[in-house]
Amino acid sequence: MRKRYLMTPGPTPVPSEVLLAQARPMIHHRTDEFSNILAQVIEDLKYVFQTKNDVAVFASSGTGAMESAVSNLFSAGDKVIVTSNGKFGDRFVQIAEAYGLEVKKLEYEWDTVVDPKDVGDELAKDAGIKGVFVTQSETSTGVLNDVKAVGEIVKNHQAILVVDSITGIGAVDLKTDEWGLDVVMTGSQKGLMLPPGLAAVSISDKAWEAASRSSLPKFYFSYKKAIDSINKAQPTTPFTPPVSLIVGLSEALKMMRDEGLEGMIERHSMLAEATRRGLESMGIKLFAPSNGRGSAVTPAWVPDGIDGKALVKKMKEEQGITIAGGQDRLSGKVFRIGHLGYFDRFDILTTLAGLEMTLVELGYDFEPGSGVRAAEETFLNK
Ligand SMILES: *Cc1c(COP(=O)(O)O)cnc(C)c1O
Repeated sequence: MRKRYLMTPGPTPVPSEVLLAQARPMIHHRTDEFSNILAQVIEDLKYVFQTKNDVAVFASSGTGAMESAVSNLFSAGDKVIVTSNGKFGDRFVQIAEAYGLEVKKLEYEWDTVVDPKDVGDELAKDAGIKGVFVTQSETSTGVLNDVKAVGEIVKNHQAILVVDSITGIGAVDLKTDEWGLDVVMTGSQKGLMLPPGLAAVSISDKAWEAASRSSLPKFYFSYKKAIDSINKAQPTTPFTPPVSLIVGLSEALKMMRDEGLEGMIERHSMLAEATRRGLESMGIKLFAPSNGRGSAVTPAWVPDGIDGKALVKKMKEEQGITIAGGQDRLSGKVFRIGHLGYFDRFDILTTLAGLEMTLVELGYDFEPGSGVRAAEETFLNK
C-alpha cells in the first residue's frame, strides 16, 4: 500500500466533505431544490470574487471560460492587448487569434512580471484597443502579476479588462470591483477544491456594454443565456448543468466562507513561504522573481546534474507524492509544488521530506532535513 498525495496546482485535492456531497443521490435540475442550491452558489461565488457583478457558471474547464470572454465581448478584427509571461498568457493569444482578433502581444520573459506601464503605453498609442488580457497567477511559472495596477490603468479607457484568475482566486487577494476588473474567471479544479469540469466568470456593466456590440458567434457559452437563466424567479442554467459539481461546490464554498477570505489568503501565503524557505535551505533556486511570487504554486529549478523528469517520476512512484514538472519550454528544467486549495502545513512538510529523500537517492549533495527544518521554523514563527 502506498498512500498518495496530490501536490499539483490543478487538479487539487478534494475535501471529504465535498466528495461526500457529490456522492448524494442525483437530483433533477429543474426543481426548487436545485434552484436554491444554485442561487446560494452564485451568491457565495460573488463573495469569493469580491464582486456585485453578475456571475455565471459553465460546464467546462477553465479554458472554456477563457474562450467565453473572447467570444462574448469582441468582434472579428478587434484590436486587443494580451500580456504573456507564461503558458497561460500564450493560451489567451491562441484563443483570441482563433476568433480573428488582432492581437498585440506584450511578451515578457517567463521569470519576470508583467509591467503595467507597458499596458498604459500601448493604450495611449492606440485609442482603438478594445480589450486587455492579463493572467493574475501564472501557474506555469508561479509568477504573480499586479492586476490591481493594470486595472487602475485600463479603467480610464474603453478597453475591457479580462483577468485569468484561475489559480489566483482562493490563494491570493482578488478584488474584482475595487480593482475594476471587467471579466474574471476561475476553474473548479484549482482554488475551489473540486474535481475538474466547472468554470465561473464574473461580468461587469462595462463588459455587458461590450457584449452588446460583439458579433462573434456564441451559443453554449453565451453570457446572456447564462445570466438570463440565473436571474429567473427560479434560478437555473440554460442547459443541463453538472449537478454533482454544483452540489459539491456549495459544500466547498461553505468551507471557504467558514475560513473567510482573509484566513484563506493568509494560509496560502504561509504555505508558500514555508515551501520557498524549505527549498532554498536545500540549496534549490526558486523560479519566480522575488517581486512577483504567488501563493498557488512554487516552481523551482531542478538542481544541476539531476534529471527533472526522473525526479517527478521517482517521487510519484516511490513516495506516492505527485508534484508537477515544468511546462512547455521549462519541461525537465523546473518542478512545481502546488499548494492551492485544500492544503495545510503537514502537506508541505510531507512533500519536502519526500523531495529530500528522493534527492538523496538521486545523488544531490545537500544536508538532508534542512528543507523540512526551515519549513517547520516558518510554521512555528507564525
Ligand atoms: C489551469 C489553468 C487554466 C485553464 O486550464 P484548464 O485545463 O482548461 O482548466 C488557465 N489559466 C491558468 C492560469 C491555469 O492555471
